[in-house]
Amino acid sequence: MIAVVIGPPGSGKGTQASRVATRLGIPHVATGDILRAEIAKESALGRELEPIIASGALVPDDLILRIIEARLSEPDAASGALLDGFPRTVAQAKALDAMLEHRGSSVDVVVLLQVPEDELWRRMRRRAAEEGRPDDTDDAFRHRLVVYQAETAPVLDYYRSRGTRIAAIDGVGSVDDVTERISVALTRRQRSQRAS
Ligand code: ADP
Repeated sequence: MIAVVIGPPGSGKGTQASRVATRLGIPHVATGDILRAEIAKESALGRELEPIIASGALVPDDLILRIIEARLSEPDAASGALLDGFPRTVAQAKALDAMLEHRGSSVDVVVLLQVPEDELWRRMRRRAAEEGRPDDTDDAFRHRLVVYQAETAPVLDYYRSRGTRIAAIDGVGSVDDVTERISVALTRRQRSQRAS
């Protein structure tokens, strides 16, 4: 099963996607984590990425597509993947469709994690104090919210127009409760897929 998790910054996508992927037995593929690992390695690419990500802007589509193509070619992704942070633009969504079509598969379900903006700010400020991510500053976060509305929200319209199932999940509540809500939606989907 190929599932995509979409949600604004601070919605808990990363936390939830990791937990749900473990339950489903498919790899959790998070482009943000892959990019941060590249920065931590202090590679030439990492040094190029660092200021882009710290500002809250998106890194170029072609780079992300190369990363995803390589990741989905690894053996553990043969049975599917839970994509977190990708696709983030309509161009990325179209490229993903083309990539999957080539492999005889497609996006089965999109999970939309919904959290109101005041709660997103609260969570970001808490995480800033705990983790110190360079893009968890007021300015970068404001920019990430704008980019989400302008670039990522249209991805939902794209999937809607393609008839892909979208599971809208309330992302407010305890971490366990939200994991449960997503798992229920995806397990149902995984079962109906196996039955067909
Ligand atoms: P969040 O969704 O909370 O902003 P992520 O860890 O998913 O956090 O992403 C952090 C940053 O990594 C983004 O602001 C962006 O700079 C970069 N990034 C992650 N995924 C993508 C992508 N698919 N396309 C372009 N940039 C990306």
